[in-house]
Amino acid sequence: MSNILVINCGSSSFKYALILQDYDYRIYGLAENLGTPNARISGVTFGNEKFQIDLGQADHKEALAVAMSRIGQVNFDAIGHRVVHGGNITSARLIDDDVIQHIKDMSPLAPLHNPAHIVGIEATAQLYPDLPQVAVFDTAFHQSMPEKAYRYALPQALYHEHGIRRYGFHGTSHAYVSERASTLAGAKNQGGWLVAHLGNGCSTCAVWNGQSLDTSMGFTPLEGLVMGTRSGDVDPSLHYFLAKNLGWDIEKIDRTLNRDSGLLGLSGLSNDMRTLIDAAEQGNENAALAIEVFVYRLAKSLAAMSCALPELTGLIFTGGIGENSAYIREKVVATLSHFGFSIDAEKNNLRGQAMRIDAGTNPQVWVVPTDEEARIAQETRQVALAETTTIAY
Ligand code: AMP
Repeated sequence: MSNILVINCGSSSFKYALILQDYDYRIYGLAENLGTPNARISGVTFGNEKFQIDLGQADHKEALAVAMSRIGQVNFDAIGHRVVHGGNITSARLIDDDVIQHIKDMSPLAPLHNPAHIVGIEATAQLYPDLPQVAVFDTAFHQSMPEKAYRYALPQALYHEHGIRRYGFHGTSHAYVSERASTLAGAKNQGGWLVAHLGNGCSTCAVWNGQSLDTSMGFTPLEGLVMGTRSGDVDPSLHYFLAKNLGWDIEKIDRTLNRDSGLLGLSGLSNDMRTLIDAAEQGNENAALAIEVFVYRLAKSLAAMSCALPELTGLIFTGGIGENSAYIREKVVATLSHFGFSIDAEKNNLRGQAMRIDAGTNPQVWVVPTDEEARIAQETRQVALAETTTIAY
C-alpha cells in the first residue's frame, strides 16, 4: 500500500493533500499569503480535526514543515506535484534535473504558475530528499490532440522555432472525469465524451476512447470560454485597436483580458456565478446578460468540440459551477437540445456525487465531481512506484 502527498503550489500559496491508497480518508490543507506578514495555514489533521495557524512571515518551506507536522503518524512513499505547463511532455515524469530545467524552460508560457511549482518542488526536496517526486502536467493529457487541432493558422516558424501552438489545460480534471463517467457508464475509457470543466477557469474537451482530441484552451488558459475574470476568445485585432486607439500598453491589455473580463467584466458585479444567479433573479440585467453569454459561448464550444468525435456518447459537467449549478446545466443542455440531449429535473437537482442526469435518452448527460488530487496521486504511484493500480470507482 502506498500513500502519496500531492502538492499544488502557487506563488504565495500551496494546497496539499495526503491521499491514502484505500481512499478511506484524506488529510489536506491550504497555506496562503506566504512571504507576507499574514501567512497562515488551515486544514484537516490526522483524526479529521480542523486547524488554522498564523505563520508570521513564513515562506513555502516553513509552511510546508508546519503542514507536515499536522499529518501525524502517517507515512507517505512519494510526492506528486501539479505542474501547469509541461510543453510537449506527454505524461507524468519522475522529477530530476532535466525535468526541473524543462519546467523552468516552460515558464514564459505559464509565468504565474511554473516558477511557483519550482519553489514547491525545491521545498519538498529539501524536506524529503529520499522520496521520489513526480511532476503531473495539466497539459500532458492534451498531447494526444492531432495537429489539425493544436496548430494555429500562423506562419510555420512561430510553431517550429517558438512552440506557438495550442496546448490546452485542466488536463488532469478532463482525464479524471471522463474516465470516471465512462467507467460508471459501463465502458471505461470507451466512447466519445464532451467535458465542460466550469470553475473560475473554464474549458471544454473532446475525449475519444480516453484520449483528448481537442480542447478549448490554447497557447495559454485565456483562449476559449467566458470564465470568472478571463475574456476567453476575442478578435485578435482587439489588441491592436486598444493599443493604437486607446493607447493601452501590453500589460494593461493582458491584465484586462485575464483579470477584469469574463463574468466579472460583463456583469460589472462579480466573478462568482452564485452571486450572479442571485442578482439575475432579483432583476439585475447585467448579471443576467453575463449568464446568457457564458451559457451561449459554452454551448457553442461544446457543439464545436463534437466535430472531434466519431460518436457522441455523453456530456460531462464538472468544476465548481458544473458540479453545483443545476440552473446552468439546464440552460446549457436546453441550448444543445438539437443534439438529442435531455435532462431529468429531479436528478439534476441532486448534488455531491457522480451521476447520470439525463431523462434516459442518448447522448447521456453526467455530473462528475472532479478530483485532481486523486488523479495526481494515481499517476504519481504509477511513475514513482511502478504501481499499476487505478482509482477504484
Ligand atoms: P472552482 O474554481 O472549481 O472552485 O469553481 C468556482 C466557481 O464555482 C465560482 O464561480 C462559484 O460561484 C461557482 N459555484 C460554486 N457553487 C455554486 C453553486 N451552487 N451555484 C453556482 N455556482 C457555484
